[in-house]
Amino acid sequence: MNIAITAHDAKKELMVQFCIAYCGILSRHTLCGTGTTGKMVSEATGLKIQQFLSGPQGGDQQIAARIACNEIDLLLFFRDPLTPKPNEPNDMNLLRICDMHNIPVATNIATAEVLIHGLERGDLDWREIVRN
Ligand code: PGA
Repeated sequence: MNIAITAHDAKKELMVQFCIAYCGILSRHTLCGTGTTGKMVSEATGLKIQQFLSGPQGGDQQIAARIACNEIDLLLFFRDPLTPKPNEPNDMNLLRICDMHNIPVATNIATAEVLIHGLERGDLDWREIVRN
């Protein structure tokens, strides 16, 4: 499966901890992410992650474009609801494009836990059929 990761600044450390905890599962999949998040997770876990541009520079739009092309099976997007962001419209577009294409997306760690266990259990195997 192709998994995309991104996290707002206040949630990046949480994303790192999440990826450390589920490194074993994540290592069996293809990972990509926005620049800073991808770099932090890669350095902390040793996971190979295709790093796009930094989110505010368009990395979130690179993920959105891949979702639109049906190239992403799962998005982990840890949002910080407390801090206003200059690229907020892009964030909303990212979620919109997931809804457009029925892509499983977690915007917080609680949902991410459920999705990662579901992924491991095979709950997302239908994506293989939809993608081909
Ligand atoms: P970043 O992008 O991982 O490059 O920081 C995410 C964000 O928009 O904060």
